[in-house]
Amino acid sequence: MLTGQVALVTGSARGIGREIAVKLASLGASVIVNYSGSEAAALETKAQIESLGGTAECMRCDVSDFAAAKELADNIIKKYGRLDILVNNAGITKDGLLMKMSEEDFDRVLDVNLKGAFNMIRHFSRNFLKQRSGKIINISSVSGVIGNAGQANYSASKAGLIGLTKSVARELASRGICVNAVAPGFIQTDMTANMSDSAKEGLTDMIPLGRIGDAKDVAEAVAFLAGVGGNYITGQVICVDGGMAI
Ligand code: NAP
Repeated sequence: MLTGQVALVTGSARGIGREIAVKLASLGASVIVNYSGSEAAALETKAQIESLGGTAECMRCDVSDFAAAKELADNIIKKYGRLDILVNNAGITKDGLLMKMSEEDFDRVLDVNLKGAFNMIRHFSRNFLKQRSGKIINISSVSGVIGNAGQANYSASKAGLIGLTKSVARELASRGICVNAVAPGFIQTDMTANMSDSAKEGLTDMIPLGRIGDAKDVAEAVAFLAGVGGNYITGQVICVDGGMAI
């Protein structure tokens, strides 16, 4: 159980982030639901948590903005006095073949997916060090583990998150703080909703377990790492991908 703990899940208005927020709240954590544009969806996440008897609050912040991320961290520490679980889930795609990829599309994906996680960890690091405890879970991707044609920017950001995870795990381990990455495979969310049926079929053929993943599959792995199950695990990448990266 996570009773008495405070958790921030970035990008938890929708998709995988929402399921993680709901799961952590169901285990007793007070959850901060972060969003950048989807306020109505964030309020739905909060309502879903409250309908299950949990506690949640919505806070807007574009995680790629260093100053805004600091303001979010400061507000959370001021209000709750602590943060126990930080899940860096916010992410975007701007896919295309490298030959045609614009500088803007490369930079924006790196800014949200990789720098966003750096920003949040950076601004909460003092809190975690002072507490001498904490769990940081970065949502990477199978694309960051094995690469994916058409996703050079996204794969680079997600591989970068793995390097960030391992380095920060080494830096914070002496204070009992665990830092891990979860690398989902192909999960049914808005992010993957626009794929054609034939592309989905092709991808499904690449999944040994033979099915597209559900956001709940990812949330279970995050909850494990956030709870006592993750107390002696740090610097690892847990693939939740039906075997895609074997
Ligand atoms: P999604 O349904 O598109 O949701 C993305 C979430 O990120 C939204 O809640 C969005 O909130 C938030 N977000 C985007 N930019 C943000 C920013 N600058 N600041 C704060 N929040 C921001 O995507 P998803 O499939 O749930 O993906 C969640 C994570 O899992 C991402 O990191 C993604 O890369 C990773 N992942 C997904 C899959 C998959 O197959 N779906 C596979 C591997 C990894 P707003 O709408 O408010 O901006």
